[in-house]
Amino acid sequence: MKVYNTLSGKKEEFVPIEEGKVSMYVCGPTVYNLIHIGNARPMIIFDTVRRYMEHKGYEVNYVSNFTDVDDKIIKAAIEEGVDASVISERYIKECKKDMEGMNVRPATIHPKATEEIDGMIEMIQTLIDKDFAYAAKDGTVYFRTRRFDEYGKLSHKNLDDLRAGNRSLKVTGEDQKEDPLDFVLWKPKKEGEPYWESPWCEGRPGWHIECSVMSKKYLGESIDIHAGGEDLVFPHHENEIAQSEACNGKMFAKYWLHNAFLNIDNKKMSKSLGNFFTVRDISEKYDLQVLRFFMLSAHYRMPLNFSAELMEAAKNSLERIVNAADNLKYLINNSKREDITEEEQVLLNKTADFKEEFDAAMDDDFNTADAITAIFNLVKHINLNSDVNNSKSYLKGLLTELSGLCDILGLIVDKKEELLDADIEKLIEERTAARKAKDYKRSDEIRDELLNKGIVLEDTREGVKWHRA
Ligand code: AMP
Ligand code: ZN
Repeated sequence: MKVYNTLSGKKEEFVPIEEGKVSMYVCGPTVYNLIHIGNARPMIIFDTVRRYMEHKGYEVNYVSNFTDVDDKIIKAAIEEGVDASVISERYIKECKKDMEGMNVRPATIHPKATEEIDGMIEMIQTLIDKDFAYAAKDGTVYFRTRRFDEYGKLSHKNLDDLRAGNRSLKVTGEDQKEDPLDFVLWKPKKEGEPYWESPWCEGRPGWHIECSVMSKKYLGESIDIHAGGEDLVFPHHENEIAQSEACNGKMFAKYWLHNAFLNIDNKKMSKSLGNFFTVRDISEKYDLQVLRFFMLSAHYRMPLNFSAELMEAAKNSLERIVNAADNLKYLINNSKREDITEEEQVLLNKTADFKEEFDAAMDDDFNTADAITAIFNLVKHINLNSDVNNSKSYLKGLLTELSGLCDILGLIVDKKEELLDADIEKLIEERTAARKAKDYKRSDEIRDELLNKGIVLEDTREGVKWHRA
């Protein structure tokens, strides 16, 4: 299996530190809002990497954090007049709901920054003791970047170029850095912000230190894979390497994987341009399986453009796979024969070719686009070679092969009769109108129809609320 390592800038053979095991850390979202479809890209991609590793027989320990202390969370909390934890807990819950919809499996563990402060203080203290960090007069602690000789090795930047190329990198007087390249490990609290006691001041950690600490605590000092979006290469991951390797005196992560960005209509996704979708927005129009399929239809290191046309195309393509599976189920139910014939066995054995094609694509730095092509080749083979005269065993064999490959990509091939949020809202509106018109028969009918599909309605003082049963 070959993986592209940002550290070496090359595809390398994947050899884990410990045979048969993979330790993997994926930087997770800052939880101050519903996650957007850009955040969904690394979630889906690295969940697929994990699934493929497991398919290859590795035992995968997968850690992904929630950044639950940050300026944006604090700002949202102040605006709503609530505690920062109210905001972060709310959006962690919503994020998990979105993950479930996209069939992104929960990590082995999802640590939260606010629950790991002691570990962060300990690592910062070690860095100070080793002279890799220093506390300024106001209690801010900085990492002494120039003391880490290998700084820049991940982003392939040279310290002097960095300094020359970035005018904002200067000592401003507001900060008390020894050098403009030094970055914050701990900062003093401001009025109204959450804070923790520390040897330097009451305050809170910088962002970078949290991943170094959580990765070490849950996966050990040296791990196999560290991953995230490409915007994290510099400075976040570069700083994580500096902190961890300076502290532990050991290689931090062997392979660094980064997904390229998701753009919208060929433009950078941004709130100010108004071209911004949350995963929840998409779920009102599509089953989130379609979003997953869409993300996997391109190689993860290629920029991916999101547009209504491309989502429609993804929906149609996924439907072709789901229909093939659905058709097989129909044939299994209607076939009159149990046992597989020799001729059928030959056709069933032929599916190994598509599995090989699939594995070869995934072994080549997780080329999910080519892996999907292999699935379509299998679908063609199935459509050409299955009808009601085939035996049940043969048809079941085909279905197992198809759902097996889809499952590695996290694609569910069961046909869902499930209603989309937008359809539910429409029916609720119709029910409210029926009740107003005193047409209780129709309003009860709608309630029952929704209940049959697993949607429970609640009449409250603020109006009708609904949830999935
Ligand atoms: P954040 O909450 O901004 O820290 O982002 C969480 C994860 O989403 C990180 O791995 C980011 O690199 C990734 N990410 C953010 N925006 C995009 C985007 N437009 N395309 C792909 N990945 C993104
Ligand atoms: Zn991180």
